[in-house]
Formats: sequence, C-alpha cells, structure tokens
Amino acid sequence: MRVLNTVTVPGSMAPLFEQAQALVQSYFGDRRFAPERGSITIGDERYILVRAESLSVGFFGFMRSAYPALDDEDQFSVAGTILYDLAHGMGMADAEVFSRKMGVDDPIARLSCGPVHFAHAGWAFVEISAESSPSMDDEFYLVYDHPYSFEAASWLERRDRAPGKVCFMGAGYSAGWCQVSFGVPLVAREILCRAHGDPACRFVMAPPHRIDERIAAYRAAHPDLFADRHA
Ligand SMILES: [Zn+2]
Repeated sequence: MRVLNTVTVPGSMAPLFEQAQALVQSYFGDRRFAPERGSITIGDERYILVRAESLSVGFFGFMRSAYPALDDEDQFSVAGTILYDLAHGMGMADAEVFSRKMGVDDPIARLSCGPVHFAHAGWAFVEISAESSPSMDDEFYLVYDHPYSFEAASWLERRDRAPGKVCFMGAGYSAGWCQVSFGVPLVAREILCRAHGDPACRFVMAPPHRIDERIAAYRAAHPDLFADRHA
C-alpha cells in the first residue's frame, strides 16, 4: 500500500493517484471566500459550507420528529436512503463537471480524482484495498475504508452507539463519482461502521445486480471481521 497525502492506494495505482493529487490540489488552490457577497468559489464553481453533523445525526433526529408515525427502523432507513440518493446525485454531477473542467478523459484517471476531491472537500479520507479491481464492466469491484468519515464522527461524538451503519453519504457520493468515471451503474454499501461498533468504516462497490454477491464473498473471505456482529 502507498500512503499519499490525501489517499492510500495499492502500490500499482499510486502513479495515477499522484497525478490526481496534483490536479485536484491545483483546483482547490483557487479558493475565494467572499462573505460580503455571501459566496464561496473554487475555480469558477460556487460551493457552500455545511455543518457536517446537520447531515448525519441532525438529519436522523429531524426524521424522527417529522415522521413520528414511522417506527425507529423505518425512520433510520428512510433517512439513510435520502442521504444516500442525495450524495449519489452529487457525486455523479461533481465527477462530470470536474473531469470536463480539468480535461480528464481516462476512466481510471477520472476515478482517481474522486477520493482526492473527497479529501479536499472534507468528506472523508479514502483507503482503497488491494482486493479492488475497478473495470468498465460487470466485474467492477472496489473495497475501501473512510477512516475519518464525517458521518461516523458525528455519531461517535455523542458517545452512544448508532442504530446502524451511518455513512450513507460517503457510500452514495463515492458510487456516484465512480459510476460517471467508468460509465457503468454502481452502488456502494457500507459493510462495517465505526459508529456501529466496528473497527472501520468499510465499503463495497459493485454493479447493483452484483452487490449482494460481492458482499457475501467478502464476508466469507473475512469471517473474523464479522464474528458476533450484525449483518
Ligand atoms: Zn461508517
């Protein structure tokens, strides 16, 4: 594994990610905060700052008060689906605009910019497992961790265990970015979450019709990680 400034990747992927780091760093270097106009721009794109906890613990709390007729499980599931879908759309749109603006055409180069962009935008640091095999077809498979996930951090701050795996936006955004980069439909699912008592926030990404099979194979290959834990 190679630990770079903004991402950790298998050694074979390091050269591409080093290029991506330089590209994304130059993009984020052109930041302008103009509170007198109420605007933040990076390059010529408008950005907004959002307090991270509002998009995790805070949003789940809002769902509880807005939909009291739903039971706890349904409230959690609906909130998670909304956050996942929102982030998935954002990841797709950001990947599209970023690759066009920066002139990145090669699929793996486009994917490489994703985790680095993620790190600069404050969403998460990404560690890509050597078990991954990103390809432009049904075989696409990515395993990765977000060791400093803002979503898990907001629950851990409360010092009580989350009701489930909570890193929905991290999963959705990364799947959206990779889907656009590779031109294949992709979903990501969190299989371990620090906020739920696991040792890491770990994700599996694959085409939708293969995700269950990929997760089952991962769990079978790493039974120690899942012993005495929830599915
Ligand atoms: Zn997590």
